[in-house]
Amino acid sequence: TTAHAIMDEMAIRRALTRIAHEILEKNKGIETCMLIGIRTRGIYLAQRVAEQILEIEGVPIPVGEIDITSYRDDRIKVSSVEAVPKGGSLHIQDKKVILFDDVLFTGRTVRAAMDALIDLGRPQMIQLAVLVDRGHRELPIRPDYVGKNVPTSKNEKIDVFLTEIDEQDRVIIQQQ
Ligand code: 5GP
Ligand code: MG
Repeated sequence: TTAHAIMDEMAIRRALTRIAHEILEKNKGIETCMLIGIRTRGIYLAQRVAEQILEIEGVPIPVGEIDITSYRDDRIKVSSVEAVPKGGSLHIQDKKVILFDDVLFTGRTVRAAMDALIDLGRPQMIQLAVLVDRGHRELPIRPDYVGKNVPTSKNEKIDVFLTEIDEQDRVIIQQQ
């Protein structure tokens, strides 16, 4: 197997700063917006962008998380929809929800996340932010905010490392 670096610490930081600015521009501020990270690494990305938005606008934005468990039979099951701001529940009614994930591939995880959210209430709008879009969509899903587009072949895999759990910030592509 061979591995190539795609993003280093600085590239990740710049991409997330750009996404924070794009969110502010597209939504003309962040009134009624909230960020929701998908399970592990999407949560850290959402939190980092929230910190950037606070720095730029001086306004805190609510951050939530959602836990979607996928199974090897290519079906995705919503194992739990975790309540968010520490103890509270996900109040998404009439909110502009911006979903965060580390890698976008077939789109099935995002679809499951949207199903789970819509079961909780009626968001005003759902947008999607991903650190890496590696292509190969199987559903009509397109991200609104992309850290980096990385066209991959099916035998290539992206590894995302974030300091919160991986002790470094780095994205690499692995050929198997
Ligand atoms: P999808 O549901 O779009 O097929 O896959 C996206 C989900 O699977 C994301 O939650 C992402 O974390 C994970 N995923 C899919 N492909 C990759 C990949 O190449 N690298 C990493 N790190 N995660 C992936
Ligand atoms: Mg994931």
